[in-house]
Amino acid sequence: MILGHAHPDVMAAVQDAASRGFSFGTPSENEVLLAEEIVSRVEPVEQVRLVSSGTEATMSAVRLARGFTGRSKVVKFAGCYHGHVDALLAHAGSGVATFALPDSAGVPTSAAGETIVLPYNDVEALETAFAEHGSEIACLITEASPGNMGVVPPEEGFTEALRRVTAAHGALLISDEVMTGFRCSRSGWYGLEGPYSGGAPDLFTFGKVMGGGFPAAAFGGRADIMSHLAPLGPVYQAGTLSGNPVATAAGLATLRGCTPEVYTRLDEVSRTIADAASAALSAEGVPHLVQWAGSMFSVFFTSEGSRPAQTGVVRDYDDARAQDLPAFGAFFHSMLDSGVHLPPSAFEAWFVGASHDDEAVGRVLDALPAAARAASASRGRMAG
Ligand SMILES: *Cc1c(COP(=O)(O)O)cnc(C)c1O
Repeated sequence: MILGHAHPDVMAAVQDAASRGFSFGTPSENEVLLAEEIVSRVEPVEQVRLVSSGTEATMSAVRLARGFTGRSKVVKFAGCYHGHVDALLAHAGSGVATFALPDSAGVPTSAAGETIVLPYNDVEALETAFAEHGSEIACLITEASPGNMGVVPPEEGFTEALRRVTAAHGALLISDEVMTGFRCSRSGWYGLEGPYSGGAPDLFTFGKVMGGGFPAAAFGGRADIMSHLAPLGPVYQAGTLSGNPVATAAGLATLRGCTPEVYTRLDEVSRTIADAASAALSAEGVPHLVQWAGSMFSVFFTSEGSRPAQTGVVRDYDDARAQDLPAFGAFFHSMLDSGVHLPPSAFEAWFVGASHDDEAVGRVLDALPAAARAASASRGRMAG
């Protein structure tokens, strides 16, 4: 909740919208205004369609890419999570990583069989996969800056390599900004890293922040691609509750509340917390790495002898999985005992919100030394 829970402006917008009706099954004013707000913030997004969850956004974007290109294969990266779309639940991060499930039960081989999974930040693997399957690949979908294996930002030039290689093979590039959108900056990760010399991603997906805590998400991009959606084009997509008037009121009020001052404050608060966490861990001799994407960050508890311990960076899912998970668990529970609820997995990003005032930040800082001691005591202990 980028503005904090039950922000008065968002509350007022929701109450006003709800008092006028919950659902009309037809576009409503807030839906149009929210779409305009998104288009005005993310320059390559010419048209946008609203849906109700990030999962729907990525599912629809992939269908559109397949319909547009007439191809079937999809490339994704290990450790990237794009919602619980069957075809994208291969080597996904987030909850799937937390529970160490290689894949999900209930996903037939046929659904994931058109999915090619590559290691993140590896241009060579990317080029090899496209050299082999390029003419069958409809799209490559990536988290704009991955946050579902912990924060693992693209290395310098990696996003541009994605653009170059997909374009060379006639495949679309989908930038999944469901997590980073309107959080990393007012224009999401694109606002921090773009524009790209080789051109922008073709399609973007959004969710989370843009719903203001309600079910609203979106996908959008080049108008010539979006025009392939029904009713103008042959790619079917619809949703009874898409662009719901209450959800879009919350999203619109949230985005309007995300002023430049809010983003500055998020940057400051996240630095303060991350620096203090790092200092507390260092004081207890707990090896760790902090990685950033705008104000999103994560603290990786590096295991002795692992690749990240040697290279000083977590660059892909294998690196992320090499973490000392018991150390994270001990750290997390100590923080929780002190009343600080961190993201409950070593594979999640830490977010701050505009309501984290100095008193709240003080509580977090006060809780860190004991948590660092707990992490130190549990280091290298085997899970289970
Ligand atoms: C959360 C997330 C999704 C899925 O969104 P839901 O609203 O949970 O379906 C998709 N992509 C990314 C990058 C996410 O972080």
